[in-house]
Amino acid sequence: MAFEFSFAPEHEMFRRTLRGFLDEEIRPRIDDEFYDSEAFPWDLVTPMAEQGLFGVTVPPEYGGAGLGEIGYGILLEELAKVDTGLSTIVGAHTGICLAPIYLFGTEEQKERYLPPLCRGEDIGAFALTEPQAGSDAANIKTRAERDGDEYVLDGTKIYVSNGDVADTLMVSAVTDPALGARGGVTAFIVDSDWDGFEVSSKEDKMGIRRSTTAQIEFDGCRVPEENVLGNVGEGFIVALTALDGGRATLAAGSIGGATEALNRAVDYANAREQFGDPIAHHQDVQFKLAEMSTDITQARYATYHCLEYVEEYYEQIAAGEDVSKAFREKVSRRSAQVKIAASEMAAEVTEKACDIMGARGLAEGYGVEKGLRDSPIAEIYEGTNEIQRMIIGREVAQEGGYAW
Ligand SMILES: Cc1cc2nc3c(=O)[nH]c(=O)nc-3n(C[C@H](O)[C@H](O)[C@H](O)COP(=O)(O)OP(=O)(O)OC[C@H]3O[C@@H](n4cnc5c(N)ncnc54)[C@H](O)[C@@H]3O)c2cc1C
Repeated sequence: MAFEFSFAPEHEMFRRTLRGFLDEEIRPRIDDEFYDSEAFPWDLVTPMAEQGLFGVTVPPEYGGAGLGEIGYGILLEELAKVDTGLSTIVGAHTGICLAPIYLFGTEEQKERYLPPLCRGEDIGAFALTEPQAGSDAANIKTRAERDGDEYVLDGTKIYVSNGDVADTLMVSAVTDPALGARGGVTAFIVDSDWDGFEVSSKEDKMGIRRSTTAQIEFDGCRVPEENVLGNVGEGFIVALTALDGGRATLAAGSIGGATEALNRAVDYANAREQFGDPIAHHQDVQFKLAEMSTDITQARYATYHCLEYVEEYYEQIAAGEDVSKAFREKVSRRSAQVKIAASEMAAEVTEKACDIMGARGLAEGYGVEKGLRDSPIAEIYEGTNEIQRMIIGREVAQEGGYAW
């Protein structure tokens, strides 16, 4: 077959084993009480770590499972079916902390940081956003001033997923204000037990409540120069490269959330009778199920296709090859496109599931009300969909058309 969509045997095996583990060990422990709490779920994170779910992308020589971006997509899709908070915890740890250390780290940094992160003994986080720099990420102000063989970090980071529990953080800070984001920002690997690092508050969010979101203060935090990640002045590229992969796998999470909502609606529609028939026999309900499953299928094809590109892109970076500008831009655009498509699809599918379930769709205990609170968040984090649209639209207009 010239164009086929099926997982490689190792990925198919991983998916099957993962589903078995999640259905037996994790799903039964998730209920309304779980959803409502804001405590970081160590009781679930520990068995997940023991299954190797915190180092799926990284090669075995650094302690990972070596399943790459496709394996990671499968992980977030399956995890999000169970709970989107859990998929966000693993996403912030893997896609935007562990991945940039693997891609841009020195051999010493990889040997020191990757094995405990892969074992889930250390939790990772990514700190870019600041009070005045959300969508305008190039406007960060956290300063990293050189002092001998150290950098001294001062500033505030907000909305840091896993920020309150992380051991290792990838932090973007300004090393040369005169040069702007491209040239003046550097990435650092920071240990949270260093002096001058403090968690100042936690967000109280409507959804993905078990994925904690924290504000962090750096107050004279001394970072040794060997903890510069990548080259000095290239930290913005490090962050953007991590977000390219992050957006595509985030899309896989949205697909998992949407699939769960669809399956709950199907179960309900087959069981609930009105006018003497299961509501699943009514054409309007069937049309909704048809649209929901069609939209999931489209997003799923596009997302895993994009993950193939991300895999190739990351392999080139990890091998120290020069990635062509055209390929970098292609991956970046595709991942932005699938993020828009999958996150908005998930919000719409969840809303349709809620319609099908009538009053139960809005009630706790049926799983879909929670999806309504969780799904919009994927439209915001890792860059809002409006910003993704702005960039894609500008590029397509400049290119004078859309070349596939
Ligand atoms: C649950 C959660 C977890 C997060 N985790 C992390 C994390 O781990 N690390 C991290 O660094 N950050 C994290 N973030 C931050 C996230 O990336 C930002 O919230 C996001 O980039 C948007 O920034 P903002 O919230 O400040 O919104 P703003 O930038 O203030 O935007 C507000 C609105 O204005 C729109 N807007 C802004 N500028 C334009 C424009 N030029 N054109 C059109 N529309 C525009 C936006 O699209 C949005 O709708 C997280 C956020 C959330 C909600």
